[in-house]
Amino acid sequence: MEHEGKHALVTGGGTGIGLGIAEALAAAGAEVTITGRDLARLDRVAAGNPRLHPLQMDVADETSVRDGIAAAARARGPVTICVANAGIAEAAPFRRETAEHWRRIMAVNLDGAFLTLQAAMATLEPGQSARMIAISSIAGLRGLRNAIAYTASKHGVIGLIRGLSEEYMGGPVTFNAICPGYVDTPIVDRNAAEISEMKGIPDEEARAYLARGNRHKRLLETDEVTAVALWLCSDAARSVNGQAIQVAGGQVA
Ligand code: NAP
Repeated sequence: MEHEGKHALVTGGGTGIGLGIAEALAAAGAEVTITGRDLARLDRVAAGNPRLHPLQMDVADETSVRDGIAAAARARGPVTICVANAGIAEAAPFRRETAEHWRRIMAVNLDGAFLTLQAAMATLEPGQSARMIAISSIAGLRGLRNAIAYTASKHGVIGLIRGLSEEYMGGPVTFNAICPGYVDTPIVDRNAAEISEMKGIPDEEARAYLARGNRHKRLLETDEVTAVALWLCSDAARSVNGQAIQVAGGQVA
C-alpha cells in the first residue's frame, strides 16, 4: 500500500488507460479522483470501488478544470499524484485538416494537459513532493501519418513536461511523459472501426493493421502502461524526471 492516504487525480479515468492507472493507484491505497465528461460512466466504474471518486470535468474548459481540481483537493487533500491522460485521437490528413478540428484536438490534448497540471500544482503545499505524469504517445516522438493535429498535440505534451521538469528542477516534484504505442482501448476500437469502414475490410483486419504499427506487431494491453505509471509514482523513481518513456514494443525515435 505504497500510496495509502495520498490523493491522486487521473483525467479520463473512467476508461482505457486512465481507468487502468486509477484502479492500480487505488489498489496501492490512494484515494483517486477520476474525471471525464461522462459522469454516468464514471459513477458506474466507481460503484464497486470506494477509493475511486468521480468528478465531471471537461479538460478543454479552463473553469471546469480549475474549479474541479480545487474542489477535489478540498475533499481529499493536495493532488500529489496527477495523471493528465484525457485525450482524443482523430485522424485527419493535412490537406483536409480544418482550423476548427485542429483547435479541438489541441484544446483537449495539449491545453487540457497544461490546465490539469497547473491546477494540480496549485493544490500542493510548499515543499510537498508529487508526481506529475502526462500520457503522450509515440506520436509525441515521431510523425504519425494522416494525424497531423494529434501528432502536433502529443509533441506539445512532451514539450510541456520537459519545460516543467527544467522549471522545477531540484524540487520535490517530478514531471514525466509516457509514450504508448497502440493500446487495446476504446480509442483503438474507434480507430479500427473507422479504418474498417474506410478500407472496406473486417474489423479484425483493421485491428491487425493498427497492431502492425507497434514495433512488436501486437496491440499493447493497458496493464503494460499502468505498470510504467505506477513505477513513476514510486519512491524508487524519484530521480526520473523530464523523460518521455516509450512503451511501444521497440524503439520508436
Ligand atoms: P479512451 O478510453 O478513449 O480514453 C480517453 C479518455 O479521455 C476518456 O475517458 C474520455 O472521457 C476522456 N476525455 C476525452 N475528451 C475529454 C475532455 N474534453 N474532457 C475530459 N475528458 C475527456 O482511450 P485511451 O486509449 O485510454 O486514451 C487515453 C490517453 O492515452 C489519450 O491521451 C490517448 O491519446 C493516449 N494514447 C492512447 C493510445 C492507444 O492506442 N489507445 C496510444 C497512445 C496514447 P469522457 O468521454 O468521459 O470525457
